[in-house]
Amino acid sequence: MVFNVSSALTDTLYRRPYTDPEAKLRLRSDTELLHLDVVITECCSLKCRDCSNLMQYYECPENIASDDIIGDLKKLFECMRVRELKLLGGEPFVNQKALTEVMIYLSDTASESIDMINIITNGTIIPGDECLQAIKNNPKTMITFSNYGKLSPGQNEFAELCSKLGIRYTLIDETYFWLDYGRVIKYDESVAFVRRQYKHCYSRKNCNTLYRGSLYACPRQAHGIRLGLLPDVKDEYVGLHDPQYGSSDELRRAVLGLVRRNKEISACHYCLNGKYIHVPRAVQKA
Ligand code: SF4
Ligand code: SF4
Repeated sequence: MVFNVSSALTDTLYRRPYTDPEAKLRLRSDTELLHLDVVITECCSLKCRDCSNLMQYYECPENIASDDIIGDLKKLFECMRVRELKLLGGEPFVNQKALTEVMIYLSDTASESIDMINIITNGTIIPGDECLQAIKNNPKTMITFSNYGKLSPGQNEFAELCSKLGIRYTLIDETYFWLDYGRVIKYDESVAFVRRQYKHCYSRKNCNTLYRGSLYACPRQAHGIRLGLLPDVKDEYVGLHDPQYGSSDELRRAVLGLVRRNKEISACHYCLNGKYIHVPRAVQKA
């Protein structure tokens, strides 16, 4: 089945400021994350100049081992469920081995811990049979094609395979725009601007990111710290295996503290998404 995301919907998603239909639900959900981005790889088959996840800055990107991802998910699932779990990179199909093993884990022992899996792909790679089978075997799974036109040469063939195998997929509307998050430098914006930007930020509400053992407010924070472009402020993310969380309940409270945090994080001083400047999608870095 094909779902087309209408431009009216995407406009609504990015209306300024971002209207937050899940605000109350987020505050009521004590044992559930509404959305979680899980990084499968830092590698990408494209190099988008304005990638908000900062993949364009990796000089030696690495795949994440499936054991590490599964170990992190197991730790998280001891205290929280997840409604929508997104698997992404970079381009997740670059790391098909890990993606396949994570899908098998999510379809088996972790099945009760999630409601929906969404695999985000740029449509450059057509997965092999084993990976497709692992996706097909989990009816909670949907593929989202970013739909970058000529930059997504495998998309049509992959979508046809999905139709044949009964895998749900959606194509992002081509008129969908990106917001310019700006280069990763410290901006001289007012405290009021930074606070407002954080308060209305789509990423921190919909894209909390699980990456290399920690849970971050947003992917820009996660990768910016890894890349050494952002300050590494320990109390602004949650180390899932940190011994300071002696019980799963302590970890759950720390995760909720991150998800419900009112105060901006340091990374927001290095970000401009609250300017709502539109940029064309997927312009490749020279
Ligand atoms: S926007 Fe997507 S396709 Fe482009 S570099 Fe980032 S992860 Fe890769
Ligand atoms: S750095 Fe702050 S404003 Fe920018 S995407 Fe992350 S949470 Fe949002």
